[in-house]
Amino acid sequence: MASLLDQLRSELPDLRVLADAADTEAFRFDETAFLKAGQPLGVVFPGSTAQVQAIVRAAAAAGVPIVARGAGTGLSGGAVAVDGALTVVFTKMNTILEIDSANLTATVQPGVINADLNKAAAENGLFYPPDPASYETCTIGGNVAENSGGLRCVKYGVTRDWVCGLEVVLADGSVVRTGGKNKKDVAGYDLTGLFVGSEGTLGLVTEVTVRLLPLPPAKLTLLAFFATVHDAGEAVAGITAAGVVPVTLELMDAYTIAAVDDAFQLGLDRTAGAMLMVESDLGGVAAEAQLAAVEAACSDARATSVLRAADAQEADWLRQARREAHGSLERRGAARMDDVSVPRDRVPDMIDAITRIAAANELPVGIFGHAGDGNLHPTYILDRDDPTAEERIDKTRDQIYRAALEMGGAITGEHGTGLAKKKWLELQRGARSVELMRSIKAALDPDGLFNPGKVF
Ligand SMILES: Cc1cc2nc3c(=O)[nH]c(=O)nc-3n(C[C@H](O)[C@H](O)[C@H](O)COP(=O)(O)OP(=O)(O)OC[C@H]3O[C@@H](n4cnc5c(N)ncnc54)[C@H](O)[C@@H]3O)c2cc1C
Repeated sequence: MASLLDQLRSELPDLRVLADAADTEAFRFDETAFLKAGQPLGVVFPGSTAQVQAIVRAAAAAGVPIVARGAGTGLSGGAVAVDGALTVVFTKMNTILEIDSANLTATVQPGVINADLNKAAAENGLFYPPDPASYETCTIGGNVAENSGGLRCVKYGVTRDWVCGLEVVLADGSVVRTGGKNKKDVAGYDLTGLFVGSEGTLGLVTEVTVRLLPLPPAKLTLLAFFATVHDAGEAVAGITAAGVVPVTLELMDAYTIAAVDDAFQLGLDRTAGAMLMVESDLGGVAAEAQLAAVEAACSDARATSVLRAADAQEADWLRQARREAHGSLERRGAARMDDVSVPRDRVPDMIDAITRIAAANELPVGIFGHAGDGNLHPTYILDRDDPTAEERIDKTRDQIYRAALEMGGAITGEHGTGLAKKKWLELQRGARSVELMRSIKAALDPDGLFNPGKVF
């Protein structure tokens, strides 16, 4: 019997197939390089839904599992290769099929880069709100599979809030379309919602329809500095409690400020314990009023200084610097970005817990993240030569997730469960919920074709 790869080569002569270990190496890991990656049977790059269907049918018949992959920027190991599996990379399916200005929607193939969709939308006076910090590299398919967030979630929500229709190839090779361009549609179960956030375990997304909005006015940007990261957390809670909903409310602690300032030479206040970056996209006097309310909440939380970006270019630099927080911390050592979420009034408590737990485990940590969503990214800096580092990180993570759960929070706010957090899923969701998830998986993918070993 011909091998699966030979069969695919002969059935789909246009299909790019990588089989040599040297060629597939770049597709074994995502951004969680610390997780153990398998050795894939091969890597394929379909160009159409029909090709994806043929790949799924052939792989199912051969009993070879499939790992879907976008750009590989994931931070939970969702796209990490599985031994003997076929990795299906969607980067060639990168066409923006339609920007529908009449219905305020866009329909795209899954390999479209988030920034490219936003660029095309902007050319039509529109925008697509979810913007992970990785927006210049990550794909819409990856965003859908992870239900990704970003820097505009405080106001606009996460990917799930914007996806209104999907085309998905199921484990038997059939295609379903869920939803579409309707603003309202409640017929039957919400299958779109089910596939969003399913981390490549229920089906392969081959087309995505998202809602768009008219482009908002240019942003006004405010920076507030605080003596302690706890005070910055109090300001976040205060802004939320005051009913102020900026478009962006990001936090960086002293460790992260120094790393970012070293990388970008922005002249940030390096004596500060923390800073917030807050943006309004209301435009004109409404934006001024919103930032005045933010400033008041920051003063109540003992801000040491509050200033505005001098102009749009400076605001762009600051935003870009925040997006590069992880990259800047990576210059300090091996940086392992984590992701926890708590109700927003518990942000100061969560910051204290992270600081205390990391110190107790003697682990340097930078704290930054989408504080306005209650979503923090403690980033542990480890010395690769230290044999105790992994053990201390594991202990720290376990304690931090338990602290978040005690506050009513979540073990992941936006990066997903994947491989990295499956050990803790039941701790948050409970045995019955995980059992329910397993039965959904069994109903859609009875032979465990898609992304085996991930999430559960
Ligand atoms: C510097 C940096 C900053 C980041 N900032 C953010 C942030 O602000 N917010 C945030 O939420 N995340 C963030 N991330 C994480 C990551 O970028 C997102 O999870 C992103 O959505 C992953 O997209 P990707 O194309 O890289 O997907 P991949 O990493 O390739 O895959 C992610 C998951 O999607 C599945 N998948 C991919 N394509 C398909 C498909 N077509 N059908 C079915 N399943 C599929 C994979 O199997 C995997 O489980 C950041 C990552 C980095 C490195």
